[in-house]
Amino acid sequence: KKKAPSKKKADGPPLIGIDALKEENFPEWYSQVLVKSEMLDYYDVSGCFILRPASYFIWEEIQDFFNKRIKSIGVKNCSFPLFVSEDVLQREKEHLEGFAAEVAWVTHAGSTPLEKKIAIRPTSETVIYPYYSKSSGVIRSHRDLPLRMNQWNSVVRWEFKNPQPFLRTREFLWQEGHTAHLTKAGAEVEVHQILDWYAAIYKDLLAVPVIKGQKSEKERFAGSLYSLSCEGYIPATGRGIQGATSHCLGQNFSKMFNITVEDPDSKPGEQKAALHVWQNSWGLSTRSLGVMVMTHSDNRGLVLPPRVAETQVIIVPVGITAKTTEEQRVNLLAEIDRLVGNLTAAGIRADSDLRDGYSPGWKFNQWEMRGVPVRLEIGPGELAGNFVTYSRRDIAGSDGKGTIPIPELQTAIPTLLDTIHDDLYKRADDSFTEHRKTITDWNEFCPALNNKCVLVVPFCLEEDCEGEIKGMSARKAEEDSGEAEDAKAPSMGAKSLCILKEQPTEIAEGTHCINPNCKNPAQKWTMFGRSY
Ligand code: AMP
Repeated sequence: KKKAPSKKKADGPPLIGIDALKEENFPEWYSQVLVKSEMLDYYDVSGCFILRPASYFIWEEIQDFFNKRIKSIGVKNCSFPLFVSEDVLQREKEHLEGFAAEVAWVTHAGSTPLEKKIAIRPTSETVIYPYYSKSSGVIRSHRDLPLRMNQWNSVVRWEFKNPQPFLRTREFLWQEGHTAHLTKAGAEVEVHQILDWYAAIYKDLLAVPVIKGQKSEKERFAGSLYSLSCEGYIPATGRGIQGATSHCLGQNFSKMFNITVEDPDSKPGEQKAALHVWQNSWGLSTRSLGVMVMTHSDNRGLVLPPRVAETQVIIVPVGITAKTTEEQRVNLLAEIDRLVGNLTAAGIRADSDLRDGYSPGWKFNQWEMRGVPVRLEIGPGELAGNFVTYSRRDIAGSDGKGTIPIPELQTAIPTLLDTIHDDLYKRADDSFTEHRKTITDWNEFCPALNNKCVLVVPFCLEEDCEGEIKGMSARKAEEDSGEAEDAKAPSMGAKSLCILKEQPTEIAEGTHCINPNCKNPAQKWTMFGRSY
């Protein structure tokens, strides 16, 4: 009689993989990737989340990248209070209207009602600009301009829509820059420069493609002259997502808060005219981390772009069996130590996993779940041949594997990490390009949305027309699906994402706006889509 096959001994503690598929149950998949990769944890106040070290590291990389650039133009970091009085918050009316429904208020100290309730900042224009006004002395003359401040902080927006980790949370981390300039031209150079740096954070750090543009009248930041943004795309859901915003505030706030300087061009002996300063504000939040995860990760877990991965290379010993002598084992572990040292010296964030009681396969799964871009395997065979076997996280199966001679590691690994970055970007960019359809016929608009596309359309730029497009596309989606729209879920109607900064062509005279009911001529190619 044949013996029953002996059950394989369990290797270390059980590793529970991700049991929802990205293609089938995207929200559940996303939540599991974040929790199981140790990026994030849930919290008992709805809409608030714990950012664990694995995700905070990425945020710090973003901080380093951005700080270097903004400091090069003289931006100084600082910290303003969390609270803002009701009187001050209300001073810029249009601005407040944009936020009123989401403002959280402090009304009590212990059980004692406060005489005046105090708001928690949803953004800090009204916290910072009283300080910029003449009375505080920070802007005494045009020589104090440009004044450029930034803070890395958190803000609170008590959002009504369902929260989504990173993408839409009630408290979120961001940076907010607030600057004042003598001239409109000076402000405008900066507002575009910052937008380029935001796009670079996405492209060069997170390997995520974004499209730059200007917000429509309907979507611009309340209180701004105009708002620029970079817009991303989530392939799995076909939705657009606002990546970051850079607002040219014009003189709205400087007029409200009386931020003026004397005109440097006044003639001697003349009464010096007071000029209202030109202001910008700009922000990028931890939403960027969510976009990165949604874009690259897969059914085995997180996939980290190499430049933000806390561990870029993990070395795992393999091929140690009962037959391996103690001397061979010691030599192998010593070689791994040496390799970690060499890689670290070459500026690579490398580590080894020498835990006893865990099989190589179990370790592979865990590092894959955590998204580490490159795994190196080294065993007696590799040692004898003076090479390592590598495995790329972003490509499953044998296509992502190969060998590298040990003497070449210090140069080969940086190249490999760059290749991984470029390939991740290219895959995401190809998908965004493929799903960004130019459409001039309204009949193609909703079918393309249903095919997970965002649409570049000729648009008249009018606020009412945009509302109509959103309503019509939502109604069509309701008809097609037979379900009523859920106000708490992401919208089924399409809104404008941005007016493309790089217009593909000039709009020919006489071109109609995409909205068939609209009588206005089209002005600009504008990207529309369902969005988060
Ligand atoms: P805003 O002040 O509305 O222009 O927002 C600045 C940036 O913060 C946006 O571009 C978003 O990327 C991000 N953001 C806005 N609301 C949230 C939120 N509830 N959770 C996370 N990020 C957000």
